[in-house]
Amino acid sequence: RKAEAEKNRSVSNLRAAVICVLGHVDTGKTKILDKLRRTSVQAGEAGGITQQIGATNVPIENIKEQTKIVRGISQTEFRIPGLLIIDTPGHASFSNLRSRGSSLCDMAILVVDIMHGLEEQTIESLNLLKAKKTPFVVALNKIDRLYDWSTMSRKDVRDIISSQGPNTQNEFQTRTKQVILQFAEQGMNAALFYENPDPKTYVSLVPTSAITGEGMGNLLALLVTNCQSMLAKRLMFSEELQATVLEVKAITGLGTTIDCILVNGRLREGDTVVMATSDGGSIVTQIRSLLMPQPMKELRVKNDYIEHKEVVAAQGVKIAAKDLEKVIAGKILSVESGGVVCSGQPIISGLNILVARSPDEVE
Ligand code: GDP
Repeated sequence: RKAEAEKNRSVSNLRAAVICVLGHVDTGKTKILDKLRRTSVQAGEAGGITQQIGATNVPIENIKEQTKIVRGISQTEFRIPGLLIIDTPGHASFSNLRSRGSSLCDMAILVVDIMHGLEEQTIESLNLLKAKKTPFVVALNKIDRLYDWSTMSRKDVRDIISSQGPNTQNEFQTRTKQVILQFAEQGMNAALFYENPDPKTYVSLVPTSAITGEGMGNLLALLVTNCQSMLAKRLMFSEELQATVLEVKAITGLGTTIDCILVNGRLREGDTVVMATSDGGSIVTQIRSLLMPQPMKELRVKNDYIEHKEVVAAQGVKIAAKDLEKVIAGKILSVESGGVVCSGQPIISGLNILVARSPDEVE
């Protein structure tokens, strides 16, 4: 099954990339997410984003709209279906995975406040990303706080910077150099994204303001192009399930539920899943319902879910089932399809969710 799932993967069928936002407190992680969401909502009809469980799904149509201001973007062929951005900045599910399995995130945004440079938690995040070998781009945020900054939204950030007065440009250059030096002290090459000599060995800095929205289009464009050029293989859709439990939550009327990020594969109502529990054991349970929020007209309406028969990666989904109380968040789930008997299977690592399906169900 595994071999077959592997064989059927193709670069012409990519899944959405899962993106995490990391960085020191107060650098603007939440604000960047808000801005991405709000701009997306305002971009309106053109492939509106959907608020999912624990994540925001930004479809490629929407990204096209938001990146129109980026110079040279018309030459880019968009091949991923979108970005799935994990909502909770610095969520434990990311750091819990430090020493285990592969990372939940395909790519990360590391937020640095241009006025402060690298701070304690920036360095912690950096080490985490290095350890997980997770590629990332840096949002060099709060550029609007540079001396005498004049805001020009709806323009490529390169043009916005070169249109600033000489003092502002000087301050920008000085602060950017300082950040690049601080990266060098951490043993990393960094460069402004438009001066980056080699994106494989230099991390790109994208000047942004989460308040004015400047640079956000450039950030999205860079995420998409980097994902496509560096991660095409990893992003090929596979029937082999890969998912992570973000949270275990009791919901009135539903009982204990788990919020998952389905990174690859698909989940169906009625699937039998095996999950590791906090006491070192495991539970076998059947998915009673797969829940996603109502399509969004405005931002999130609480506890208003729609049931789905099937959910295909990458998406955020809430699972309602019996016996979920002891399931542990922050674990990687994986699936063995093809009628696997779950008990006695390699749950030993305590990390896996197994889904039992008969072979004909898989097609
Ligand atoms: P987090 O702790 O990293 O999630 O940071 P927040 O998103 O909560 O932002 C911390 C503070 O910085 C808030 O007061 C934000 O309004 C402010 N902030 C965030 N991004 C920007 C920005 O680009 N420019 C300015 N001027 N302020 C910002």
